[in-house]
Amino acid sequence: MSSSRIAAHVRDIPRSGIRDFFEIVQSMKDVISLGIGEPDFVTPWHIREAAVYSLEKGKTGYTSNLGSPRLRRSISTYVAKHFSVEYNSHDEIIVTVGVSEAIDLALRALLNRGDEVLYHEPCYVSYAPTISLAGGVPIAVPTRAEDHFTLRAAALEKAVTPKARVLMLNFPTNPTGAVMPLDELERISAFAVKHDLVVLTDEIYSELNYDEVPHHSVAALPGMKDRTIFLHGFSKAFAMTGWRIGFACGPADIIEAMMKIHQYSILCAPIMGQEAAVEALEHGEPSVARMREEYRLRRNFIVSSLNDAGIPCHLPKGAFYVFPDIRGTGLTSKEFSFQLLEAKKVAVVPGTAFGPSGEGYVRCSYAAAMDQIKIACERISDFVRPLGKR
Ligand code: PLP
Repeated sequence: MSSSRIAAHVRDIPRSGIRDFFEIVQSMKDVISLGIGEPDFVTPWHIREAAVYSLEKGKTGYTSNLGSPRLRRSISTYVAKHFSVEYNSHDEIIVTVGVSEAIDLALRALLNRGDEVLYHEPCYVSYAPTISLAGGVPIAVPTRAEDHFTLRAAALEKAVTPKARVLMLNFPTNPTGAVMPLDELERISAFAVKHDLVVLTDEIYSELNYDEVPHHSVAALPGMKDRTIFLHGFSKAFAMTGWRIGFACGPADIIEAMMKIHQYSILCAPIMGQEAAVEALEHGEPSVARMREEYRLRRNFIVSSLNDAGIPCHLPKGAFYVFPDIRGTGLTSKEFSFQLLEAKKVAVVPGTAFGPSGEGYVRCSYAAAMDQIKIACERISDFVRPLGKR
């Protein structure tokens, strides 16, 4: 069948490297996976129970396109409390099908064909394709291990052109766990003002911060609220990937534009998920804190085990990923991942899945049970020992 019936801009988008890799992983037996960016925890019971209860009450219909008023009020309160930014639940908040949809809506609402979007790399796999699908031009700004993968305003200055319209930020970062220090975030906000950029800040991992560097939202910095779209969701900190609920907060004109696309393509996020999300925001903090403490133990363990095995690994300040430097093995990140999988049945993701600047690194998720992480680290150590040139 001819491929010309597929639109060129879709045909040209590569499939996600992670997906192909995990199809191989799934076809193998007894693999320990440090690959997936999904909590191993089940959604806390009180959140599931809220959804069950709402079903029992017969809440099975559509909600407002923007999301249920109750959830939007909860979001407004939560964001004010945790991020120090006030949003009006009436017209400055939209509930979406995960942060994934919120990213897509925001880019489609903002970009004209050929507009450039700056983002830091290595980054979440969807950014570049979503920018391209929205007609924009992705401009990756590499971050460096020496800076713990934080973004430097100076690097942005080198990459910016008059065509730049949007700056995408994601701190804590998937895949590096980077958290931005406040002073550099201030320089980045000054950069956004200077070049008149809209900032899209994906803060989906913000609760998973291990306190070495406090999390600050760029939306809360002086003068930024009017040019920032704040994205957040329930998948990670609340262990709610399957519920598919996220949200965007921003200036009313942008939320209105996003709502128009959402209204015609999605209509509304599922009501059961929205009901569960209210419970998560209003009573979920102790559950989040418990999971965060468990992630912290795993992070500390995996970082010291990899360093002991001779694989340099910086201490990520947030999210649930480590991003060790495998260059000393003499293998590319793809060779390392495939050979480790074949030889030791441990799945990690090649750094290049997160952009070319991820070469030389792999991503290991510690959203896996501690006993599995321990075995995986032993196997990784066995794998690299004969390779070691360090
Ligand atoms: N943003 C980042 C940085 C992510 O890592 C992910 C998922 O891995 C998402 C967004 C997608 O989240 P959601 O499940 O809310 O669509």
